Amino acid sequence: MDIDRLIAERAKRIDASGIRRVFDLGARLKDPINLSIGQPDFPVPDAVKAAAIRAIEGNQNGYTQTQGIAPLRQRIVEHLRTDVGWEVDARPLSAADPARPGIIVTSGTSGALMLAFQALLNPGDEAIIPDPYFAMYPHICTMVGATGVPCNTYPDFRLTAARVEPLITARTKLVLLNSPGNPAGVVATNNECRDLLELCRERNVLLISDEIYDTFTYADAREPSPLGGGGAPPCPTPARFPGAENDVLLIRGFGKTYGVTGWRLGYCAGPRRLIEEISKLQQYTYVCAPSPLQHGAAACFDVDMSVQIEGYQKRRDMVISRLSKVTEVATPGGAFYAFVKVPSRLGLSAAQFTEKCLEKNLLVIPGNVFSKRDTHFRLSYATDFATLERGLSALEALMA
Ligand code: PMP
Repeated sequence: MDIDRLIAERAKRIDASGIRRVFDLGARLKDPINLSIGQPDFPVPDAVKAAAIRAIEGNQNGYTQTQGIAPLRQRIVEHLRTDVGWEVDARPLSAADPARPGIIVTSGTSGALMLAFQALLNPGDEAIIPDPYFAMYPHICTMVGATGVPCNTYPDFRLTAARVEPLITARTKLVLLNSPGNPAGVVATNNECRDLLELCRERNVLLISDEIYDTFTYADAREPSPLGGGGAPPCPTPARFPGAENDVLLIRGFGKTYGVTGWRLGYCAGPRRLIEEISKLQQYTYVCAPSPLQHGAAACFDVDMSVQIEGYQKRRDMVISRLSKVTEVATPGGAFYAFVKVPSRLGLSAAQFTEKCLEKNLLVIPGNVFSKRDTHFRLSYATDFATLERGLSALEALMA
């Protein structure tokens, strides 16, 4: 059978070759210096594992409510109250106060992004995404027939209102902000967030705030991520941007913060009308997030991750102090990535440079996986100091 003839355009239009190649190479290299990994290297906290195990053994293995289990929703709502000053209604949507924002637990942060895009974008609609972007963003636009409009944020990787404004058209439905960002780790300032939110309000465009790395916001960058959170000291209520919960879809996850990327757990909160649509779509697609793991996630809120975060901050400092001597690199305020420029004097594209890295057994991801450009590469420092040290020495030698 000619299966190729049967494949839909939406799948064919997605080219996954760039990142797949890096992973395939990683699997083939023997003991590579792997600075390509997008997940934390610490073990899952014992209390979180124990809560999930208890749930499995206690027969909590069936479907849950589409919106997620009540104890987890309750913990998230309490967290958002102190972290961003939002008064989200934890009750099931059918019983919740229509004037208050709603919440839904999703299958990963990706699940929330996918369903939000499905709920908001018609074919031909436009979504403004930062360039460089998390590799999934343009593809989820394609999957719903919409156009991802990249907003050039080089060289400082800041999604500012001034950069976004000229890109807004009559077809724009949403602007996607990712702070701390993947791949550059840049954290939006308070003023940048305020200006973006004001612009979005003026133009009746939804601001989606992907805050999957919120907990990984370093002490020196705690002018925190969009709504007041980002591991900041508890947000003084009322919220930094009053009424933002009616105009912003806040998306967060558990995977990166607690090292449970494989558990596929995230959540989104925001305008109740939109959460209702997302819930309807979840009901007929993912059904619910993994049920025993939702019990594990509820235990996350009792765990203090500050030691791990300080550890990443030290690694960030090491990356910046060493690489800034040989090339340009914007200082990350969070996440665990740096987006490093291939020095122009080398006369190489990022793809060519990362090939040279491979010859030294070093794995980093070329910028063209995250961008229309191919001038930088993403380095992940979610690894032990010894590996990072070896990787930085290899990079210094290649850039000399
Ligand atoms: N957003 C960003 C910015 C990410 O980097 C990632 C994961 N790399 C995701 C969303 C998806 O996360 P999850 O595993 O929770 O689906």
